[in-house]
Amino acid sequence: MLGILWVETQDGTLSVAAAFAAHQEVVQDRDHKFLTEAVGEAYKGVDCGDGGPFGAVIVRNDEIVVSCHNMVLKHTDPTAHAEVTAIREACKKLNQIELADCEIYASCEPCPMCFGAIHLSRLKRLVYGAKAEAAIAIGFDDFIADALRGTAFYQKANMEIKKADGNGAVIAEQVFEKTKAKFHMY
Ligand SMILES: [Zn+2]
Repeated sequence: MLGILWVETQDGTLSVAAAFAAHQEVVQDRDHKFLTEAVGEAYKGVDCGDGGPFGAVIVRNDEIVVSCHNMVLKHTDPTAHAEVTAIREACKKLNQIELADCEIYASCEPCPMCFGAIHLSRLKRLVYGAKAEAAIAIGFDDFIADALRGTAFYQKANMEIKKADGNGAVIAEQVFEKTKAKFHMY
């Protein structure tokens, strides 16, 4: 939970507008930090040959619980996407089947399978970097875009979902351009 940050003006009174702006900035910085970690995982997974360029980080109380990447090749498992892998590992680590006190940061917009897992694990917040089109552009399945695009399923999920903007979105989308030479898409 994030507290409200009050900002004192020169005459000592509190400015609500300034406080709100400062609060938004704190949220942005925090989101950027964890999203950058997820993007780093995406590169890491490609570098070690574990799978596609996707990373996910699960955070509880401002601390990273697990930081994972796509393990499809390593585990010979088409379901070992970064988000599913992170949920499995976080649940095991915390010894609980619900992650209602956690947030997930995904380097890319989650596919329907991952969004289903995010919903079932009751994660309270999702922040993602790249839009699905960035992955689809280098050959990944266009079904990725089906999870968050106005499906009844998405609308029913009681969760804050945030698409990163600015530099967060840029670094997340660069993952695909920078790694595409390493993938033979079919
Ligand atoms: Zn997925």
